[in-house]
Amino acid sequence: LLVLCFAVLGRAEYLKYKDPKQPVAVRVKDLLSRMTLAEKIGQMTQIERENATAEQISKYFIGSVLSGGGSVPSPQASAQAWASMVDGMQKGALSTRLGIPIIYGIDAVHGHNNVYKATIFPHNIGLGATRDPDLVKRIGEATALEVRATGIPYVFAPCVAVCRDPRWGRCYESYSEDPKVVQSLTTLISGLQGDVPSNDVGRPYVGGSKKVAACAKHYVGDGGTFMGINENNTIIDTRGLMTIHMPPYYNSVIRGVSTVMVSYSSWNGVKMHANHHLVTDFLKNKLRFRGFVISDWQGIDRITSPPHKNYSYSIEAGIGAGIDMIMVPYTYTEFIDDLTSQVENKIIPMSRIDDAVYRILRVKFTMGLFESPFSDPSLAGELGKQEHRELAREAVRKSLVLLKNGKSAYSPVLPLPKKAGKILVAGSHADNLGRQCGGWTITWQGQAGNENVTAGTTILSAIKATVDPSTTVVYSESPDSSVVAGDKYDYAIVVVGEAPYAEGFGDNLNLTIPEPGPSVIQTVCKSIKCVVVLISGRPLVVGPYIGGIDAFVAAWLPGTEGQGVADVLFGDYGFTGKLSRTWFKSADQLPMNVGDAHYDPLFPFGFGLTTEAQK
Ligand code: BGC
Repeated sequence: LLVLCFAVLGRAEYLKYKDPKQPVAVRVKDLLSRMTLAEKIGQMTQIERENATAEQISKYFIGSVLSGGGSVPSPQASAQAWASMVDGMQKGALSTRLGIPIIYGIDAVHGHNNVYKATIFPHNIGLGATRDPDLVKRIGEATALEVRATGIPYVFAPCVAVCRDPRWGRCYESYSEDPKVVQSLTTLISGLQGDVPSNDVGRPYVGGSKKVAACAKHYVGDGGTFMGINENNTIIDTRGLMTIHMPPYYNSVIRGVSTVMVSYSSWNGVKMHANHHLVTDFLKNKLRFRGFVISDWQGIDRITSPPHKNYSYSIEAGIGAGIDMIMVPYTYTEFIDDLTSQVENKIIPMSRIDDAVYRILRVKFTMGLFESPFSDPSLAGELGKQEHRELAREAVRKSLVLLKNGKSAYSPVLPLPKKAGKILVAGSHADNLGRQCGGWTITWQGQAGNENVTAGTTILSAIKATVDPSTTVVYSESPDSSVVAGDKYDYAIVVVGEAPYAEGFGDNLNLTIPEPGPSVIQTVCKSIKCVVVLISGRPLVVGPYIGGIDAFVAAWLPGTEGQGVADVLFGDYGFTGKLSRTWFKSADQLPMNVGDAHYDPLFPFGFGLTTEAQK
């Protein structure tokens, strides 16, 4: 009898939520029923990597940690260094009474862009020009593997903004001004998470430990703000909101997106972070989105202006609107205390907290975090691997839009011959990987002056690798006019554009090509047959120069694989990209979008010349 007693008592208690054979709903309910208020509120709190020690995580039962804006464990940290950092935090979470794993998130918005030596894909504006949903899905698959290689299971992508005004500093994060193009490219979600097996609309889905949870952002109307001012007010009627800005969310929900991030912006004067109607009534109830809603960075603090003016009010408004996880509430201890007392005093109902935690746990169970909470060392080799670079190169080729080819239709300049005699390559963006990648590349503001920001191929080195050995390539960032005129060049390739930027730092009312770009174009194109390649996060004013240019290519922000540009310039592949945005004549026409009554663009939405691949 004694032996039997020991056997029974000594056996670990059977916990339903820990049993992977139980359905997710059963596991969530069981776990939720065991949780204290402190444990629940902890799940709703997402803190910044820098504050996230294992001790803090376990002390406050923190549910999630992030690398905000590219916060890294150390410059040039390896995949292994990332993974061991995340695993260390996970140990803290698992050491708690109930052992609920954290979900670590990062902005992998064009590949795993915060991580040194990751493959950097073109920014969304370029992907929009490819019109290729399958390509974008494959990019999602590759990105998921690179992100998992660093032990991270969650990304804040895709941005499904429908950018209506390129003066907005985040326009390049948007696939298009046309909701249909944005809708078609929500395939990124299926690439990141895997294909939803059933037609169970709204249920979050992540197909195992080689996939990552995605986040459709920023809900909703982020791309429609007044004059393109970041985080500003989107003034539009309900019909406009529903037909222009909302459609990508239908597709995202159908694809089983795990999370949706709320926009800093307002809709007709109401902060989205406090909009119960759109977050709860529409997204959760009408669209039946069953993943979790996350705030933007200090998004609830910013419900008031100035931020954090009346924190209790903001917490009540934000949680009350239906936000489930709060990204970096400032400070999180103050947030936790305040929310706790609001629940204890029945200002915020327990049912709201339970809904939030239910959704967070549903995602964590669905994606298998309880079974596989740690990094998988066998994936380390996925980071920046050759296959992914080939995919990025394909994406670059397909994203290029040819806007002019020859001074008349009968004298095309592109493709250039590989046996070209002597080529001058010029411009600030020809040999600079930081500029080629743009913002959200090793820190959110990008790396303007840093040509060695990460591993990759600049356009200059790609040109050198592509031409025939008999061709001489001369590079000068800003060539002197006497040199240009005196030397006998057969062709020039001028690569100029915008310096990297992100968010409000990129808001720009003029949208001109920054100096010295225009002077280089003028100097070079005056005496040499020239191809201008523009590196930019949006169309820029080119009217004053375009007449003097022989061929003009919009290359957007192509990322690390500059070889894709040379592949098309020299005819290994043809040009196929189509404008995903309207190319305006001058910024005072903005906003101007396809379908507008007085549509008078320099190049219309959908425009793009083609060339044939050379045999
Ligand atoms: C941006 C989000 C981003 C978050 C985390 C915010 O400033 O608006 O797009 O996901 O930071 O870095």
